[in-house]
Amino acid sequence: MDCLFCKITAGEIPSTVVYETEDVLAFKDIAPQAPFHVVIVPKQHIPSPAHITAENSDVAGKIILAAAEIAKQEKLENGYRIVANCGEDGGQTVGHLHFHMLAQRNLSWPPG
Ligand code: 5GP
Ligand code: ZN
Repeated sequence: MDCLFCKITAGEIPSTVVYETEDVLAFKDIAPQAPFHVVIVPKQHIPSPAHITAENSDVAGKIILAAAEIAKQEKLENGYRIVANCGEDGGQTVGHLHFHMLAQRNLSWPPG
């Protein structure tokens, strides 16, 4: 399948992996928007948050769990933001479900 993040999870495109389980992979974003910026993705191809169903929704919890584990591992004691862009208006550019995890700077709210 011609999917960038499937290629990254398969190791066909290199990435800097910070955390991995059987179901999810977290790797550094190529264009970081904060001093700490990783992308957390399911290994299973799901196109976007809008494609979460009763059958595959367990992966969303696994991604949020991964973020909590990464925060401990990376000592992000000041907190972090996890955000999933969905579709055109949401600013999604890669068609494989992913949560951004940003930290190590004061993030504004609401987002632009
Ligand atoms: P989106 O814009 O869909 O919410 O997020 C896609 C993210 O993937 C962007 O932050 C972008 O910088 C990142 N990205 C795009 N291509 C690559 C790549 O080849 N490697 C890595 N590590 N990140 C990428
Ligand atoms: Zn994919």
